[in-house]
Amino acid sequence: MARLQVDAVSKRFDTAYAVHEVSLDIADGEFLVLLGPSGCGKSTLLRMIAGLEEPSAGRILVDGVDVTDAAPQRRDLAMVFQSYALYPHLSVARNIGFPLRARRRPRAEIAQRVGEVAATLELSALLDRRPVALSGGQRQRVALARAMVRDPGAFLMDEPLSNLDAKLRSATRAELIALHQRLGATFLYVTHDQIEAMTMATRIALLNEGRVEQCGTPAELYDRPRSTFVAGFLGAPPMNLFPAVVTVGEDGLHVVADGVDAALDIAAPADESGTRAVIAGIRPERLRVDLGATAIRGRVRMVENLGSEELVHLDTGPTELCLRTPRPAKVSVGEDIALRVDPADIHLFDPDTGLRLS
Ligand code: ATP
Repeated sequence: MARLQVDAVSKRFDTAYAVHEVSLDIADGEFLVLLGPSGCGKSTLLRMIAGLEEPSAGRILVDGVDVTDAAPQRRDLAMVFQSYALYPHLSVARNIGFPLRARRRPRAEIAQRVGEVAATLELSALLDRRPVALSGGQRQRVALARAMVRDPGAFLMDEPLSNLDAKLRSATRAELIALHQRLGATFLYVTHDQIEAMTMATRIALLNEGRVEQCGTPAELYDRPRSTFVAGFLGAPPMNLFPAVVTVGEDGLHVVADGVDAALDIAAPADESGTRAVIAGIRPERLRVDLGATAIRGRVRMVENLGSEELVHLDTGPTELCLRTPRPAKVSVGEDIALRVDPADIHLFDPDTGLRLS
């Protein structure tokens, strides 16, 4: 088990930074997910920690030891790739045992470890097969078994589930959570899939253009996004974000936009005129249809049936809002409706910086 520290690490390719002064302290036994859109630098950061890519600046430490210049095999980390990178001509048993053979471990020890790891991952019945005769999920488990066989300090995984179909992906997610709990090892996991991040991570580091936008527990990122980028990245559909003005009314602060006049219970800074331009944010599941409500009014543009829930798209003048509600929503296209929102569910961001205001 290992603590991983990334200290002001940057990577420049030609003129552009793929990773820019990223610092992370990943505690022993944590499951940290590097999340972010395509091209934000997740894989480059993971590859630098693994030793497969050289940082342009900064330091990488494993258990307090500076490994920035150490070869990958000297770092005591195991990498699991998206492609699994199995040897097609070798049996499952020989694939799993490969790292131990490369280290010239005794045969009996290799056989014993392969047997143990195969049992843990329910691969015992498949040890004589070649990778071509396995399903995607089984191949993924063989790749994991090969990473586990030498008991590394930490597992580094780059989108290991992205080649699986939706059903298998959700089953394997659950397996990985259980495996993490059982091994107590440090997991560093790259994905662009927010469901994987939300369900598996003890902490998420959300990257944007090579920088850490926010690092915290899944609940912290979801409930108190630090910026409009975080608010708009997490959640499906994401948080409704729209330009608005905070005004001081007789009964306190309100956030006002076309079709919106909702009370606030937060101390949002207003300038001398008593108003302040903001970006307001409300999660779709926090909006409720309520005939008596005055906070939000609009016309239903579209209703999407998701099976257990419905997404109602509402036009409130120039702003379009989405609301997620249990089925049936009992509203029809073209109807004018009113919505209620709890003041505590309104987020405010600075329109210039995109940063959270309260
Ligand atoms: P994805 O989810 O699509 O894999 P990512 O977040 O993992 O994306 P990276 O693969 O780390 O992103 O790439 C970050 C940036 O660095 C991208 O703009 C990419 O084009 C660039 N990049 C990555 N590797 C190289 C390279 N060897 N040479 C030049 N540019 C590179």
